[in-house]
Amino acid sequence: MRTLHCRDAGFDCDGIIRAGSDEEVLGQATQHARDVHGLDADPQMTEQLKRLIREE
Ligand SMILES: [Zn+2]
Repeated sequence: MRTLHCRDAGFDCDGIIRAGSDEEVLGQATQHARDVHGLDADPQMTEQLKRLIREE
């Protein structure tokens, strides 16, 4: 399972995004960023998030 901890991205947030692939994690993460944090992920942010994805 690929996971991304929102906290690792610098947010004060306990959100954890889990999915089967990096692409799915990034898709959910950009939606989470928009819905929860009111941010539109630009390509730079997406690239940064990609590096925070872990295998758990
Ligand atoms: Zn969050």
